[in-house]
Amino acid sequence: MVKFISSKINEGKRCFQVKAVVKTKRAKGMEFKEVPVPRIGLRDVLIKVKMASICGTDVHIRDWTRWAKQRFKPPRIVGHEFVGNVTKFGEEVTRVKVGDSVCAESHISCGRCYQCRNGYNEVCKDLKLLGIDHDGTLAEFLVLPERVLWKNDSNIPDEWATIQEPFGNAIDTVMVEDVSAKTVLILGAGPIGLFATGIARASGASLIIVSDPNNYRLNISKKMGAHITLNPRRQNITKRVLEATNNNGVDVVLEFSGNNQALNQGLRVITPGGRISILGIYEKRVTIDLNKEIIFKKIRIYGVTGRKVFSTWYKTSRFLTAGLVDPSPIITHRFSLKDYEKGMKLMKDGKCGKVILNV
Ligand code: NAD
Ligand code: ZN
Repeated sequence: MVKFISSKINEGKRCFQVKAVVKTKRAKGMEFKEVPVPRIGLRDVLIKVKMASICGTDVHIRDWTRWAKQRFKPPRIVGHEFVGNVTKFGEEVTRVKVGDSVCAESHISCGRCYQCRNGYNEVCKDLKLLGIDHDGTLAEFLVLPERVLWKNDSNIPDEWATIQEPFGNAIDTVMVEDVSAKTVLILGAGPIGLFATGIARASGASLIIVSDPNNYRLNISKKMGAHITLNPRRQNITKRVLEATNNNGVDVVLEFSGNNQALNQGLRVITPGGRISILGIYEKRVTIDLNKEIIFKKIRIYGVTGRKVFSTWYKTSRFLTAGLVDPSPIITHRFSLKDYEKGMKLMKDGKCGKVILNV
């Protein structure tokens, strides 16, 4: 039997209606419509969403891409990046109170499987993703289990709190090994590559080269601390990277483009003994020359998915609240929730950094 601590909103009712961005059909597009919010369970928290940001994944779902067709089951409220305030909670909730500012880890792990019990919750065998397997954040209200909530530092501005989830992807990609006094090539200056640029700079990388065919985003990367920006449509990446590194190549490659060509460019210019971290997701299988680019160069490859829960959230919060990285140049557009389509279109066209929706 589910009980509530307090219930102003849905006294005596099964649920209440909220406005949300919903993927309703197995076809292109989404709808802004009223949907019911479920009752909270003993360990659940009802959150009033204040801001949500759009992720590339949401755009894939909107466009009903090959990946979305295989993975997504409508109807579902989309979105997984947000900041909001606790409105109500179940009887067994102990760590939050009404009014607390919270975000959430979007990877909802089981806590019981082999991976979870070995500290790899981000690759849980029974992983549920917010906005894909669980109703998401592009909504006025949201119900989540207490255990996935992150309580925000009171110093953090709401917009910065909202982008902590993707910022965490960048933290794990950059920081899986030390980058201080190292030369770094960042492939892809989407929001996550841009966060990574700021993180690498704050972590003491001595040279940061950013490559992206999108000049608008390359300009933001300069504000985030890139020393050299390259456009692969106009410049020879291999030649320019070798020139900038005394013919050594870079110590570290961070792959955020999900582009096969970029990945191969990166592998070509890693110095023997270096490492590559790959977060980018590829449309198709990629081809790499394992013997030449990895084995005989003794390269360390790290696949990165999600974030470490919650150690990466602590790092993220500290990078932001201590002023080590200012993400403001990356937050380029703001719309109201009902205008989500404007934001999705900008994302699709790459004419933005991070887009925030005010709920
Ligand atoms: P994004 O799509 O906004 O950014 C990708 C960038 O790569 C774009 O700016 C694009 O112009 C650039 N690009 C395209 N071709 C390129 C090339 N040949 N060389 C250099 N750059 C090129 O994506 P994002 O939100 O910043 O995320 C980065 C990547 O990480 C995406 O592939 C995304 O799907 C993936 N991702 C993975 C995880 C995970 O858990 N593994 C989580 C979030 C995002
Ligand atoms: Zn698990």
